[in-house]
Amino acid sequence: MKIQIGKNWCQSYLTGNKISKLLKEYDSDLAKMCRQEGCRFCSGVLHRADYERKPRDAFRAKEEHPEKVYRHSYCCDQDGCRKRHTPASIRFLGRRVYWGFVVVLVSAMRHGFTPERMRVLGESLRMDRRTLERWRQWWLEAFVQSLFWKEGRARFSPPLCEKSLPLSLCKAFGVRPRDRLLDLLKWLCPLTVSTPKI
Ligand SMILES: [Zn+2]
Repeated sequence: MKIQIGKNWCQSYLTGNKISKLLKEYDSDLAKMCRQEGCRFCSGVLHRADYERKPRDAFRAKEEHPEKVYRHSYCCDQDGCRKRHTPASIRFLGRRVYWGFVVVLVSAMRHGFTPERMRVLGESLRMDRRTLERWRQWWLEAFVQSLFWKEGRARFSPPLCEKSLPLSLCKAFGVRPRDRLLDLLKWLCPLTVSTPKI
């Protein structure tokens, strides 16, 4: 069944391989760099002030969440500043409750799916249609309007089809091999700090 292929495609990124470990390590590296740079507003030192995220794992029952997940974050130690610094993240795309790669892959899968097949996919991933629709709108509107995209799209030749984002991005990065998915997520990273509203 074709829907199953779509689901398994996503699932294979989560299980039976090391992707979550790789993503976590990459985020730790980004966090280290952020911390080493110190406060952007004064000469303060940054202290850890992570916050907990509860990404919805579409492939697990709600009750079985093996470990707590944190988004790295820091606070300046200087009185009068105390500014929060949250480094870019390869795992989280904005404040969505799903992992960033799920947002990318599921949004890409949406293309070419009939509403009926999309409904089945949504059900199997326990996502409602409004969530999927909101993501689609985000790619087609907020993403294409973002400074990030306006500057970043120049690297693609021939130009990517904006109407089929993020499928066109996935194709350009060739995300079937997993390391290319990582490349795409790394490329999207700057978006996770200067987000157009998600
Ligand atoms: Zn400061």
